[in-house]
Amino acid sequence: TSVFADVPEAPADPILGLNSAFLADEAPNKISLGVGAFRTDEGKPYVLPVVKRVEQQLAADPATNHEYLPIDGLPAFQKLSAELILGKDSKAMKDGRVVTIQALSGTGALRVGITFLGRFLRTSGSPPAVYIPTPTWSNHRNIVPDAGLGAARTYRYLDAVSGGVDLPSMLADLSDAPAGSVIVLHGCAHNPTGADPSPAQWADILAVVQSRRLIPFFDNAYQGFASGDLDADAASVRLFADAGIDMVLSQSFAKNMGLYGQRIGALSVVLAEGTPDVATAAKAVRSQLKAVVRPMYSSPPAHGARIAVGVLGDEANYAEWKKELAGMAGRIGDMRTALKAALDSNGTPGDWSRIVNQIGMFSYTGLSAQQVAHLRNKHHIYMTSNGRISMAGLTTSTVQRVADAMKDAVE
Ligand code: PMP
Repeated sequence: TSVFADVPEAPADPILGLNSAFLADEAPNKISLGVGAFRTDEGKPYVLPVVKRVEQQLAADPATNHEYLPIDGLPAFQKLSAELILGKDSKAMKDGRVVTIQALSGTGALRVGITFLGRFLRTSGSPPAVYIPTPTWSNHRNIVPDAGLGAARTYRYLDAVSGGVDLPSMLADLSDAPAGSVIVLHGCAHNPTGADPSPAQWADILAVVQSRRLIPFFDNAYQGFASGDLDADAASVRLFADAGIDMVLSQSFAKNMGLYGQRIGALSVVLAEGTPDVATAAKAVRSQLKAVVRPMYSSPPAHGARIAVGVLGDEANYAEWKKELAGMAGRIGDMRTALKAALDSNGTPGDWSRIVNQIGMFSYTGLSAQQVAHLRNKHHIYMTSNGRISMAGLTTSTVQRVADAMKDAVE
């Protein structure tokens, strides 16, 4: 008998496990509103036309080969990615205070970043506490202990009644965090709630971060996807960067370039303004990020990085990408409007305005776990048990059926 015979089964991932259940469902009219991946109005995966063209150029280029990338990835990608989030005229970049490495999408950037912080952000001799919002993307909760920092602590985020941000509670919890704690913030399009702080609220959060000397770790999985505008969606990060404080950024090109399976993202460490001999410090930070990566996966994959460089580094491609991004965000906005209208017109009890007030890939409907189970068992409509709907899973032809099923579940 195998030495592994007694290995206990790990709990299914709440999001990916849901997709397995969906695939196993044989009902012809089943609908998946679970996984956060964009779908066309025909319910199909979407390859951005600009991405397709860059891929064809790469395939036709005799110089393309499959050699290893450096441990920290493609240099051109590092610069373009940092510019995308911090802005082309970023003072931090001009000062040489930004260290960026290519990462295995947003998840890999978070994992490497948290590991680095555990090693080098020593506050009174111990690794820092890491705070994540409640609720948050479920994988945050896995990444922090796996990076060796113990269980993540939480700060309150959602006002369950309004579906918006509960700023007073959030600020109170951040004020209680020990100095030097790491605060994970969603740069925009908070997952799962779709509720983002307003610009004025971001300024209040920054004030607490500064006065408590906290280290913000901005998770950017949806830049350009939330509002359709890359700069608007980076405003929170740029506000904090302008304050000249230490901060860490993860970026993902899964959603905004549709490169989910290519695992392309970036991790940046931004050093505080006024750091003496910043070039030496930046060099050391890069060396330590590479020291985290090398034993973990040695070097990142090349294809996605080359696509991103082809899109970000070429003026015409970049302009086309912005249009395609606005198109994706626009379709999601249309689905929000359509779902709310259908819920209102079929007389579903409740106030559904949060569906149009929320932003990004998801809507946090407020449906209970029981109602979610009813939707799945009776109507073959799948969503995470916290009532989160991936808006891109809706189409013009399914929105009415979903609204009718939601009415049935609520009543
Ligand atoms: N952070 C958040 C908040 C997310 O929603 C996601 C994607 N679901 C990620 C990070 C990372 O995704 P990926 O590793 O595919 O870039």
